[in-house]
Amino acid sequence: IERDALFRKKYNIHISGINVPSPLKNFSELSSRYGCESHLLHNLAELGFEEPTPIQRQAIPVLLSGRQCFACAPTGSGKTLAFICPMLMKFKHGSTNGIRGVILCPTRELAAQTTRECKKMAKGNAFRIKLMTKELARSADFSKLPCDILISTPLRLQLALRKKKISLSRVEYLVLDESDKLFELGLLKQIDSVVKACSNPSIVRSLFSATLPDFVEELARSVMPDAVRVIIGRKNT
Ligand code: ADP
Ligand code: MG
Repeated sequence: IERDALFRKKYNIHISGINVPSPLKNFSELSSRYGCESHLLHNLAELGFEEPTPIQRQAIPVLLSGRQCFACAPTGSGKTLAFICPMLMKFKHGSTNGIRGVILCPTRELAAQTTRECKKMAKGNAFRIKLMTKELARSADFSKLPCDILISTPLRLQLALRKKKISLSRVEYLVLDESDKLFELGLLKQIDSVVKACSNPSIVRSLFSATLPDFVEELARSVMPDAVRVIIGRKNT
């Protein structure tokens, strides 16, 4: 435990919460500690990712342990891999039974960018990662559309929910990416309807953003009371 504390200090990782899992020393701990399959490690190597970034070191073990997480780290510090990696590892047995991961992004551009980033990391395996387009939201019957991980803005996902063509009852991971912006943009009602639709009692919810304003944390605490907070550097810079 003392060793974890020193290691966190070295990487400027600040945590709050009880029994927070040890940070990753390297990517190969994904296999030794969590049984990660080799294709993901292969992809990371191919992408030239030699070491986990600080947010990846701490947020990945938190999410793999099934803990809710508020993760705050600067722009460009690798938050996408921090939330997609646990999904790619947990969903390895492949799903035929609907959407297992949902990532909400504040704008269409960010949703598209996040989709590209996620696909890069999932390359070569059978995951179906889908961006919610306007057409999909309006017309697709998701019970027939193969999709493991869905990336959407809150508005489009709410639209699809209203049309009753999508079920989120089996979602195991829900990520609110750029959560400071999500809340700032007044998308609260839409986010709320998505959170409610993700009705699986063992769902792991998480927030990822560059800043964690107090009002966001307070709002999020109401649905994620036991979340572990992981902050890289200082909270709101
Ligand atoms: P953020 O969401 O924190 O702003 P991204 O997830 O978009 O950051 O990542 C920023 C860039 O860093 C991307 O180009 C990504 O491919 C790269 N990256 C992510 N993780 C690593 C890593 N462990 N080593 C090197 N580069 C990485
Ligand atoms: Mg990001």
